[in-house]
Amino acid sequence: MSSKQRVAVIGAGIAGLSAAYHLRDDAEVTIFERNDYVGGHAHTVTVTEGSREIGIDTAFVVCNGRTYPQLMQFFTELDVDLCDHTGGFNFFDLDTGVQFGSEEFELTEEQVAKRYPAEFLTMWRDAERFHREAPRDFLRRRADVSLAEYLDTNGYSAEFRYGYVVLLATAVWSVPAELIWELPASTLIAFYMAHDPGGLGGRSVAWKTVANGSASYVRRALEVIGADVRTCSEIVAVRETDTGVEVVTPGGIEHFDQVVVATHADEASRLATDRPDARAYLDRVAYSRTHAVLHTDPSVVPGDRSRWQSWNYGRATREGRTQSWVAYYMNRLQGFTSEHDYFVTLDCPLQIDPDRVIREMHFTHPIITCEVRAMQDDIYHLNNRSRVKFCGSYFHSRKIGPDLIGSHESAFSSGVHAAAAILRSAPANQSAVSV
Ligand SMILES: Cc1cc2nc3c(=O)[nH]c(=O)nc-3n(C[C@H](O)[C@H](O)[C@H](O)COP(=O)(O)OP(=O)(O)OC[C@H]3O[C@@H](n4cnc5c(N)ncnc54)[C@H](O)[C@@H]3O)c2cc1C
Repeated sequence: MSSKQRVAVIGAGIAGLSAAYHLRDDAEVTIFERNDYVGGHAHTVTVTEGSREIGIDTAFVVCNGRTYPQLMQFFTELDVDLCDHTGGFNFFDLDTGVQFGSEEFELTEEQVAKRYPAEFLTMWRDAERFHREAPRDFLRRRADVSLAEYLDTNGYSAEFRYGYVVLLATAVWSVPAELIWELPASTLIAFYMAHDPGGLGGRSVAWKTVANGSASYVRRALEVIGADVRTCSEIVAVRETDTGVEVVTPGGIEHFDQVVVATHADEASRLATDRPDARAYLDRVAYSRTHAVLHTDPSVVPGDRSRWQSWNYGRATREGRTQSWVAYYMNRLQGFTSEHDYFVTLDCPLQIDPDRVIREMHFTHPIITCEVRAMQDDIYHLNNRSRVKFCGSYFHSRKIGPDLIGSHESAFSSGVHAAAAILRSAPANQSAVSV
């Protein structure tokens, strides 16, 4: 019989896969996943054009070497093919026809003043000031307040807030516009400092996507991990006993030496009812639900296709309410050519032609607030005791810092840490994971 400890990993998103990957040599790993596929937000839909299959991502799409160091190392170890991607965004207002994008933000002030309306010039000036002043405020810890408070205190215009901040931030954190104001200002500033030091247009970052969709890396990871993977297996409780942990499935109870809970924080709280210490952290993270649609209906982007960028931010006023949405132009984002144009829209208020809808999905994503940011100071202590460890994108990336929360890198980093915590409490002859 094997002397290795038996470890259950609950949730097969990147956090769970990271934990399983780092445990693969030292533990017998069983992965439980509620969905009928592995990957969580690494969710690829395969479309067929003639004899060709194209993998299109619908949630996680991009990463880069600068702010995803551990994830990129993982991809290198798995020998995953990556594609280069030039960023770029375009804002458009469907009602007024106003639009601007990465190229306009790269113009000089004189050029902007000459060619564009006053609304855009105000925004351009505020964006330029924000990128100049905000990093200083970040370093002096003057940005440890909500975004709303930071923008009020520093007198930023409505044009800048609604034409620049909302549009970029809703796409980066996948939450509706009304939730953006509670984001810590430091988190937004850290994002810009890390991603866009060379300009306002978002094109100075060496973005990467996974060739033929993120499911390609998930498949490769599963081959290397070699775990017992149980899809369509929702866990309903985990209970620590004197000798191990009971994992309660709808079909019965299984016993493990230790468990990694790699679900979202609210789901983890419901599973670990006997861990009030952990729930005090987990219950502080609220989630927002996003309706994502993969389709071929171009009515969600401007009529002039030369304006289509990878990230398109639309705005329209309907029944007196201004609404905005994000439309990813997937051909450009993932760098493929095809017969059809493919879009993924998030919370789009427009009617998408039902005949052009390929797949509809719902994803939930943590709402990052000053409280969630503050708990990053000691969240990793959660895994110092108990046989039940936690990980997920609601943790920050330990290599990058407390402002990188909610990404593939932060989820991956927390999985590395959870695996290390499991191995620290394993018999002495087993190797340790370095974090
Ligand atoms: C639309 C969208 C776009 C995004 N784009 C990017 C991007 O381009 N780059 C980036 O870095 N990040 C992006 N993100 C952020 C993304 O959420 C994180 O990068 C990361 O994928 C989250 O990983 P995770 O493992 O924490 O959670 P998930 O991937 O959600 O995995 C959690 C898993 O746990 C499973 N589970 C939950 N409860 C149970 C249970 N009781 N029993 C069994 N299984 C359970 C779930 O089914 C799920 O598979 C995006 C998010 C969204 C919503």
